[in-house]
This record gives sequence, structure tokens and C-alpha cells, in this order.
Amino acid sequence: MLFADLILKNGKVITIDKNETIVKAVAVKFGKIVAVGSNTEIERFVGEQTEIIDLSGKTVIPGIIDSHGHFMREGSNRLMYTDLSEEAGIKSIADIQRVLKEKAANTLIGEWIFGYQEDDSKLAEKRHPTRWELDEISIEHPIMITTVGGHFEIANSYAFEQAGVTKNTPDPVGGKFDRNDKGELTGGIHEEAYAVLRPEGYPEPTRDQAYFGAKSILEEEASVGLTCVYDLVARSSIRAAIDLKNANKLPIRVRMDITIDLLDELNKLGIYRGIGDDWLRICGLKFFFDGAISARTAAVTEPYLDKPDFYGVMATTPELAANILKKAYEKDYRISAHANGDKAIEIYLDIIEELQKKYPRKDPRNRIIHCTVINQELVGKIKELEMLPTIFGPIRTTMEISLFLPLVRND
Ligand SMILES: [Zn+2]
Repeated sequence: MLFADLILKNGKVITIDKNETIVKAVAVKFGKIVAVGSNTEIERFVGEQTEIIDLSGKTVIPGIIDSHGHFMREGSNRLMYTDLSEEAGIKSIADIQRVLKEKAANTLIGEWIFGYQEDDSKLAEKRHPTRWELDEISIEHPIMITTVGGHFEIANSYAFEQAGVTKNTPDPVGGKFDRNDKGELTGGIHEEAYAVLRPEGYPEPTRDQAYFGAKSILEEEASVGLTCVYDLVARSSIRAAIDLKNANKLPIRVRMDITIDLLDELNKLGIYRGIGDDWLRICGLKFFFDGAISARTAAVTEPYLDKPDFYGVMATTPELAANILKKAYEKDYRISAHANGDKAIEIYLDIIEELQKKYPRKDPRNRIIHCTVINQELVGKIKELEMLPTIFGPIRTTMEISLFLPLVRND
């Protein structure tokens, strides 16, 4: 006879089975549910070592899983960057200057200062600060501010000077420096222009920053009732998650979608999905098909309502995507690809359809991250290919509503 390690009884257990059955008791063995039923049905699993919890009518639900986020990286960002969001109390450009001045006072001269989550729609001035306003914070540190929607940054004069960028510097391919009518740089930086100022990209967290950042954000996830998160990870977050697990401090189950840039390295080692355990495991490879709906860069088949003739931005070409995904698929990797617009989603589905024909796999579990703009035809194909859409949650805040509203049409 199999005895349970844990029994919950006298509860309202929501099973979400086909008939939405609600039962009173659950038996758990080795961390897995082995039976559900009435109190008497479950009683037979009681052994000498079984822990019994009387729920006195309380409700039990299946664990809630967050199917996509950039959690651990956000955790370390919080330790590395100064928060310029409204939630952090920033209501004006003067507020931005105040908190970054504090940061500058504690930062070695010449070192970078980063602010993030700046939102011009939440500032009293209803505009981003200029290069000169950032110079009032410090002319001895390069300063870089990133904005909520992404794809746009603002820098001070030092940041431009250290890269040798002047008013005479042409815009790079795929990027733009904002200029005023005299041709002077005003501080705004679009897309690829960031790499001119910082070819090394965003700063990498130290091992401690990655560890403590991951710890605090995953604890926060657990505290609101989540039991598992799917996280986009690269080296620093993978290491942080393993450090947490080895220290017995992982507060929540983590499924890692590894950036597809690391495919060759993983492949060399023979590492793919399944490695790990119930607490920490590799899931899929994260690929990007298009931009963000908030920045109106999701690749769509009909133009945006507020931007006629604009169809968003592809982050790849169909050929490039097909090549990379084939390389991953033939080696049995799962794909978790970011695709927002119907055009991007269609290209993704076509590629998976081909790959499934060539390398058929049962229960493939390829995911469409965001999957925002769809139609009946795409839904049919998603079903046919057994893809898993990972959609945005309901719109919650005024920021999100303002981001989405120009996309909404009456029909
Ligand atoms: Zn993502």
C-alpha cells in the first residue's frame, strides 16, 4: 500500500478536471498529487509518517504559473539602475535630477550612471529631459536614461563626448540621434544609436548583483501566490538561479527560456530542455520575431491606426529565422519565440509547420510569446500545430491602456 507524505482534508479542492469537479481531500507523495477525492476515499493513504492538514473548509487551487517574464534580469536591474518610474515617486524632470544627483554623489567620477523606466507621460512637463538637463546632474559621469516603452534612451553630454559623438556625427544605420533645428544633439537616442555610445551594450551584473536581484524578485513572485515562473535567461541569470538552488534559497520553481544566442554553446555541450529538476529546469530557446506593441513596432499586416502606412518592425527576416530555428529544431530544442503582430506570428507558424514536417515531434510545446494580434485563421493553425500562446494579462493600468488604445478599432 502506498502511503501519502501529505494529506489535505476537509477542503474545497478545485481540480479543474474536465467536469470541474470539486473534492474535499488530496493525497501527496514525493511532491506530486497521487489522489483526490472525498475525505473517506483519501483516508486509505494515511500511514504512520503522513502529515495531515485539516483545511476546515479552505480552498485549494492548482499552482499559478507565470508563463513569461524577464524576472531575474529585472531583479539585478533594480540593484544597478536608478528607478525613474512614477511608482518610485518621480513626477517631474526635477525629481529625475534629484535622484540621479544622489546616485552621482555615490558613484566614482567617470563611471556610468543608469536611470530606467522613465515615462514622459507621467512627468509634469509631459516630455523627456534634454541632454542639458542631464548635464545639470553631472558633467563628470556619463549618464544614460532608458524609457518604459524601450527603444529610446537619453544621454548627457559626457556620454556623447566619451564616444566621440558630435553634432557632425551621422546617424548610424538602424538608429538616430535626436537633434534640434540648429543641428545640435538634444540627448535622445533611438535603437542602434545606443551601440555608438556603448558598444559593450548594457552593463552586466556582478555575480552578487545577479544573485541578490534574482532572490528578491523571485521571493516577490512567490509572495503573491505564484508557484512557478518562466524566465528569459542568459549567463548571469542562469548562474544566479543555480547559485540560489545550491544555497537552498530558490523561493519558486523556475523554467528557463535561454536566449537563442547561446544555441551553439549549448549544442556543443549537448545541453537542451529537461536538464534540471522540478525546481529549476531548462525549457526552450528564446527567439525574437518582431518589436513591441507598446512601441508600435509589432509586425502587422494592416497599418497602425495612428501611423498610416506603418506596419511595425521585424527583428529578423523569414530566411534568417528559418535557418536559426531549423538548427535548433533538428537538435530537439523547444522554441519560445516572441511574436506580437499577425505578420510575425504567421511567419513563425509557417516555419514551425515546415520543421514539424521535417522533424516530427509529439507534444512539441513550442510557445508564442505575447501572441497579441491574431485572426481566426491563425488560431486554427496555432491549434493544429499545438503551439502554446503566452498572452499578455488583462490591461491593468492607465499606462497600458494608453499604450494599447491607438490600436483598438471598433470592429
Ligand atoms: Zn520576453
